[in-house]
Amino acid sequence: MAYVHCHSCGWSQDDFYTRRYNPATKIWDSIKWLWKPRTIEFEEWIIRDMAKYTHVLVVHKKGKVFTWNWLIVEIIKDIKLAVKQHWWSWKSFKKDTNKACPLCDSKNLDID
Ligand SMILES: [Zn+2]
Repeated sequence: MAYVHCHSCGWSQDDFYTRRYNPATKIWDSIKWLWKPRTIEFEEWIIRDMAKYTHVLVVHKKGKVFTWNWLIVEIIKDIKLAVKQHWWSWKSFKKDTNKACPLCDSKNLDID
């Protein structure tokens, strides 16, 4: 797993997608994990970060979240990440002859 990020502005994208790691497999994994109705617990900062990223207020009480609520924000997160994914695969990144940050146009990109 590797992702592209920009050293000039801080932009980053999700890990490169593969047959086993892509929006569909991520959503399917979330469904498998969260389908059974129950309460799960998270650190408050995880819930805050998720709400900030998805713009969805997660209903929770002292870090306890109903699984179906969390499933919705996980799916929204995965879709948002996919929409802003500039290079979907390592191959498409390698093929791109004019690699530049989609946000600031800098060539100061790095892969971690
Ligand atoms: Zn940038």
